[in-house]
Parts: sequence; C-alpha cells; structure tokens
Amino acid sequence: MIYLDNSATTRPTDAVRAAVDTAMREGFFNPSALYAPAMAAEKEMRLCREEILKQLHFPSGKVVFTGCGTEADNLMISGTLASLREGRVLYTAGEHPAVKEPCVHAGSGITAQEIPFDRDGRVDLEKLEGMLDEDVKLICVMQVNNETGAIQPVNEIAALRDRLCPKALLHVDGVQGFLRVPFDMSKCRADSYALSGHKIHAVKGIGALVYGPRCRISPRMLGGGQESGMRSGTENTPGIAALKEAVTTFPFDQIDAMRQCKIHLYRRIKELIPAAAVNGPDPESGLAAPHVLNISIEPVRSETMLHALEGEGIYVGIGSACSSHKQKVSATLRAMGIAPKQAESALRFSLCPYNTVEEMDTVAETLKRHYDVLSRFSRR
Ligand code: PLP
Repeated sequence: MIYLDNSATTRPTDAVRAAVDTAMREGFFNPSALYAPAMAAEKEMRLCREEILKQLHFPSGKVVFTGCGTEADNLMISGTLASLREGRVLYTAGEHPAVKEPCVHAGSGITAQEIPFDRDGRVDLEKLEGMLDEDVKLICVMQVNNETGAIQPVNEIAALRDRLCPKALLHVDGVQGFLRVPFDMSKCRADSYALSGHKIHAVKGIGALVYGPRCRISPRMLGGGQESGMRSGTENTPGIAALKEAVTTFPFDQIDAMRQCKIHLYRRIKELIPAAAVNGPDPESGLAAPHVLNISIEPVRSETMLHALEGEGIYVGIGSACSSHKQKVSATLRAMGIAPKQAESALRFSLCPYNTVEEMDTVAETLKRHYDVLSRFSRR
C-alpha cells in the first residue's frame, strides 16, 4: 500500500500506540482525583501543553484540549463571537467548514465575509486591506490550505490587522500546518491557533486550541469546569498522551526529505504527463507546504483516477476528505479561478515524513499508465 492521503488523516506511529497503551493500562486515573497516580496523569497533560507551546514559540500561551481540530476552531470562533452584539468576522475563501460554518452562523449582529484568494490560492492582501476597519472583530486564516498546500501569508495579515484594526483578533487554523511548517505565534502576533492530533500521527479524538491574553472566549461545553472551565468533561488522557508523544517524537529532520519527495513526485508526473497542471503555488517554491501537491490531469475525472489508483493499492485524496462527500467542485479551487473542468480532475497527494522516493516513482508511473487508458475514454 502507498498512502498519500495524510491531509485526511495519518497513521499513528508505534511510539504513539505504545504511549496510548501505557496511558490506558497505567495512567487511566481521572486527572481531577487527588491521589498520586491521578496527579501523574495531570502532569502528562501539563507536559503536553508545554511541548505544544514550545513548538509554537508561545511560552505564555494557554492550551485547551478539545475533541478535534473542528472543536478547537469552533471554540475560538463561536466562543469569541457569542459575547459580541455586532461586528464583522472575516475568513479566507478556502477555509475549512470547521472555520467557515461557525463564522457564517455566528448570530444576527455579526456579518461574515470571505477574503478572496489569488490564483495561487493565497490570500489577496490588497483586497484584504480594503476589507479591514474597526468593525472587524475577528480574522480567521488557515496556516496551510488543506487542498492545495498553499502557505498563507499570516505575518502579512497580522501586520495589516495591527495597522488597520488593532483590536481585531487573529485566529489561525493550524490543522494542516502544525509541525510540518514552522510557526512562531509570538512573532506573528496571532491570538489563537487550532491543531488536530490525527493529522500528525497521534490519534483521532484529540485536538487543541492555543490562545493568548487578548482572547475572551466563552466556553461551549459547560459542566465540571475541567480545562480551567474552558472545556468541561473528563479529559481524554490516552488522546493527550498520544498527542504528547506525536509532538515530542515528530521527525523534524525528515521534513526536508518529505519536501524533496513531493518535488520528485511533481517532476516525475510532469515528465510523464506534460498536460498535468498544478493547482496552487509552484510546488518548488517556499509558498507551498512540504507535504501537499494538488494536480489536475484532464480530462480524467478525479474520482475515476482515485479509484484506478485504489485498485493498485495507492490511496490519494480529491480536495478535502471532510467535504468531498457533499461537494462536487471544490470551493477553494473555484475561489482561485480554476476552470471547472480542471477542478473536476484535481487529485491531492499529501505526504508524511515516512514516504519514500521509490513510492513517488511508483505513483507517477501508475498514474501515467492509467492516464494513457482513461484519457482515451474521457470526454474533453
Ligand atoms: N481545519 C483544516 C484545515 C482541516 O483540514 C481539517 C480536517 O481535515 C480540520 C480543520 C478539522 O480537523 P478535525 O478532523 O480534527 O476535526
């Protein structure tokens, strides 16, 4: 099997599985209990928070554990907008529904507006500048786009915010970027950051919201007051152990090799199928994340090629896994001005640090073999 759908989810590493096992066998105590083993569980949670803050260069930040990235985004967006009577919330045109939906459904006094993308799928800074004024209360931007791998200009967005609406909060959805693309929260002055365990080789069921002192978030989950009252409910200690293990053992030294693998895949596909077109920034540029490559191979439709590759044990994605069941043409590609035919042929290859160059050769060659057959039967 060759798995290239790591933006949908990743395989937990052996170290993560061992950490979960230990957490369930030896660390199963309720972290709120008063005896020593429960305090050990509590300590694990503290270490996990510290590790996350270290990676984000944000030592003074707070970390709330959530059930997933979606919950982290919802907590920040709905929890911030809930106490406001009026104002505007901005989100980028390629935002995941986890961000877009709470913005759009924020309530009567809040107007949600989409920030346009340029042709590369990055925020159009000039257009954003024209949208910013004192009415803007919250700006939501993803660190890395889940479909194209475009790295968003978060620092530049923060600078515009500082100049034009300094009171507005800046929320970054880091679900596709965390650990794979460095992020310095203090330097860029983002107010909050959402991440998800199952995208970084931890497990499903754990995410986190990191936030700073300007945030006033009203909790969405009320109850026993865990997580300093921000998210009631007994903590998912095996999930937190998995997250801690995934963060501390993440193979940062493999990121460059992963990027090279992605570039190799891109070059091989272009060599074998010159008609292949990239959706997103130049994969060899610093604007593209090291792990995501989105390519259209017209006239073969995405789903047809996906299943042809599946038949050979190769798993890839089309657009966003979370929305692909209901959406025909990706909103992100549409916002980039990609023609519908090209968008309907888009395939997303998302890598992890454990993929190899040999796998990339196999994928490109298999793609070419199927392209030669399928393109003859596809309507142009
Ligand atoms: N944000 C982005 C950019 C994503 O790609 C995803 C999931 O694919 C999410 C949020 C939601 O994360 P989760 O699956 O942990 O809820």
